[in-house]
Amino acid sequence: MIYSDINKLLRETLDNLYPDHEIESIGRLVLEHLTGMAWVQVRLNYGKEFIPDEKSQIGGIIARLIKHEPIQYILGETEFYGLKLKVRPGVLIPRGETEELVDWIIKAQGSRLKAQGKEGRAEGKKRLRVLDIGCGSGAIAIALAKYLPGAEVVASDISEEALQLTQENATLNHLELTIISLDILSPQGTCHPGEGRDPVTLLRGSPCHPGEGRDPVPDHDIRQGVNGSCSYDVIVSNPPYVPMGEMTSMDLHVVDYEPVQALFVPDNDPLLFYRAIAEFAATHLNPDGQVYVEIHDRLGEETANLFRKWFKNVELRKDIHGKDRMIRAHHG
Ligand code: GLN
Repeated sequence: MIYSDINKLLRETLDNLYPDHEIESIGRLVLEHLTGMAWVQVRLNYGKEFIPDEKSQIGGIIARLIKHEPIQYILGETEFYGLKLKVRPGVLIPRGETEELVDWIIKAQGSRLKAQGKEGRAEGKKRLRVLDIGCGSGAIAIALAKYLPGAEVVASDISEEALQLTQENATLNHLELTIISLDILSPQGTCHPGEGRDPVTLLRGSPCHPGEGRDPVPDHDIRQGVNGSCSYDVIVSNPPYVPMGEMTSMDLHVVDYEPVQALFVPDNDPLLFYRAIAEFAATHLNPDGQVYVEIHDRLGEETANLFRKWFKNVELRKDIHGKDRMIRAHHG
């Protein structure tokens, strides 16, 4: 069997289960993974025979695809904004929509940094500080750390599995992140160290660096706002936003395999995470800071209105499919 036979084989076994275009992209991912080659190299070697080791893995991959397991979990990896990331069950597979959110932030912050230019740097302007709430695999935090050089990126999640994977993905991409355990739904100010679970725990890195205009603070004080020691220039989040009631109409590979905790919200309160994020951002952003969130396409106006309670300037933006998909809010 030669490389170019893969699509034929996948089509024979998965024909009724996946649309043609998906079979084709699965074929590409499988070939890249098995051969360790970039797509252009795979294409140049299309007539090459699979070596026994490569061939022996194909049957197992197909058996799992038949059970609707996402190809990204089967291969243990995915690509996000041009970066390779590890993924595994328990942590959400990053989506194309989220790449668009990241792209918005990188372009907006990139031009701000440029406008600041040499003068800003000469004045010793502080490093851009970014917080990702609910980092999952670390996709957003890692792409921002990579493409906003000099930024200090803090990645947070309530899930230990997510924080572990974020660390692995940061290492894989040779990037440094500050990683913290954060329960964004925990009411602020009610939880003190030594009184049960602290909503914020520093796992790795340091929340504030001495000598950068901010005082070092004990780990739990990262919750302090602009009047305290830690505040951010950018807060970003892709929180859970799919109402439970939509579960029955979703693809099996999502519902059966991806973490419920990362996807779904109660039908009677679908915006609960945005309320918590808006409130947190309102008190933790620097005066010219911005908060960016991914949203449910059918809750665009409702979510924007929620942010309008906290921020003067709220923009709703569509994704490439023309659906309301993201919001940026700031005070200015
Ligand atoms: N966009 C994802 C999906 O459709 C949902 C991600 C999320 O809930 N944040 O599966």
